Amino acid sequence: MINVDPAEIKKFNDLASRWWDPSGDFKPLHDLNPLRSSYIAEKVDLQGAKALDVGCGGGILTEALAKSGARASGIDMGEAPLAVARIHAAEANLDIEYRQITAEEIAVESPGAFDLVCCMEMLEHVPDPASVIQSCADLVRPGGTLVFSTINRNPKSFLFAVVGAEYVLNLLPKGTHQYKKFIRPSELSGWCRQAGLQVEEVLGVTYNPLNKEFQISQTDVSINYMIRASKAQL
Ligand code: SAH
Repeated sequence: MINVDPAEIKKFNDLASRWWDPSGDFKPLHDLNPLRSSYIAEKVDLQGAKALDVGCGGGILTEALAKSGARASGIDMGEAPLAVARIHAAEANLDIEYRQITAEEIAVESPGAFDLVCCMEMLEHVPDPASVIQSCADLVRPGGTLVFSTINRNPKSFLFAVVGAEYVLNLLPKGTHQYKKFIRPSELSGWCRQAGLQVEEVLGVTYNPLNKEFQISQTDVSINYMIRASKAQL
């Protein structure tokens, strides 16, 4: 069975034309992007690095990686976000390859081909996230880095990431996230270890609705968080 939820893909296809509107439906991803891309640039030498962005959507993170010197490519299963991503990269004069392919399929094609694999804000939209993580682990070279991000599952994250973000503050379209698909850091770390990865860092990402800014937190992983993992050298 293919590890894709068609209802999820449709959701992002329908919104794709707004992907690069910095104050539109994907505003949180735009606001988050400088933080996450500078974190990645701090941890990985991006100059000339081969980077894969899994579930890249319209390419907000993919472009940031390319601008920092990575040879970046992106995959997604949504046709419309990929079309938007290709046009936007061309307009920005960035050489990025975008493909409609699953993580599982590209992992069979190109095992060990990447220095860096990112998979951000995507795992909570997939039927079998552990399988995506295994594929990301297969895609990265020994010694390479992986960065995942998603949303924790607890009453506070339901209140803030679903009720607050979608119904009170209208930061995201209603129905963007399903609570039961959220992933606890312990679950994500467990899947990383199952895939043979080493968990290097678990970081919280907090949002302040007053100044509309995201921040990295060393301690508060209660809602949004990132995990950086590595694959052992041979
Ligand atoms: N990673 C991007 C986009 C996040 S939105 C960013 O953080 O900026 C989630 C994306 O995951 C959407 O573009 C959606 O089409 C994609 N997606 C959902 N399920 C997928 C799957 N099974 N395989 C590949 N992409 C998927």
